[in-house]
Amino acid sequence: MKSLIAVFAILIIPGFAQSTEVAITMDDFNVHEETHLPAEKRNEAILAALKKHKIKAALFVTCKHLKSPRDEKLLAEWSNQGHLIGNHTVNHNRFDAKVSVSDEIAEIQQCDEQLKSQKNFEKIFRFPMLAEGDTAEKRDAVRDWMKKNSYRNGHVTIDASDWYVDRRLRDKLATDPDFDLSKFRDFYLEHMWDRAQYYNDLSKKVLGHEVKHTLLVHYNLVNALFLDDLIAMFKKRGWKVIDAKKAFKDPVFTKLPNSMPSGQSLIWALAKESGKLEGELRYPGENDTYEKEKMDALGL
Ligand SMILES: [Zn+2]
Repeated sequence: MKSLIAVFAILIIPGFAQSTEVAITMDDFNVHEETHLPAEKRNEAILAALKKHKIKAALFVTCKHLKSPRDEKLLAEWSNQGHLIGNHTVNHNRFDAKVSVSDEIAEIQQCDEQLKSQKNFEKIFRFPMLAEGDTAEKRDAVRDWMKKNSYRNGHVTIDASDWYVDRRLRDKLATDPDFDLSKFRDFYLEHMWDRAQYYNDLSKKVLGHEVKHTLLVHYNLVNALFLDDLIAMFKKRGWKVIDAKKAFKDPVFTKLPNSMPSGQSLIWALAKESGKLEGELRYPGENDTYEKEKMDALGL
């Protein structure tokens, strides 16, 4: 009877069946920043959080960080545990006026060489700082190369500033090693929730429906400490946390927005392209300047 009621509710109540879905996608893999927690412990903590919630993430690796057998071993743990391994260039340069199309392609190719022996590597590429080129010609030239070489764009739909919260946390610990970490956790969780709401609302306005989201987070101390809390928060507030491979199957990830400046969250770029939502689009979508005052006021 209960299941009949559930089926009935799914049929008649819009939105009843569908939880908003989000996957964890983590960038950079900087195993050489070891404040407070050494790399092995960070790796362990992040992988344990994913395992606890039975989800597979995507890890976009900046290949300059793979310097030693230890680094390779830490990466292999991700691949061997079923997480998707993607490409994030060798040197993490912003694809702007200083970087040519051939430079950008060489960066992708070199990182590809370093990653392709990983069991769960796929030809999926995320632009550093989400910058897809400073001109439409350069953007399209790399898109063309990616298409010919079976590479997909590992777009972010929910952008945020976890990297800035992380920087502030490390600065704080440098002067006050006993600072109450829960204050950073609380700020971090609310910041991520706020950004998730914004991009999810934006997707409904621009596309008329929700998408399977890819949340951008970084391989850093904040996530070594609080990724478990972050995932738990999404679940508690009614979202479903899904595998990254599943999220990337959403048709939204095949879209090629023509808006300039290129990059940002995919949802931001599509909203910009629509020309209808200018008032809701700040540029850049996310930045440290937006969070600074709030963190200052909280003494973080
Ligand atoms: Zn990055």
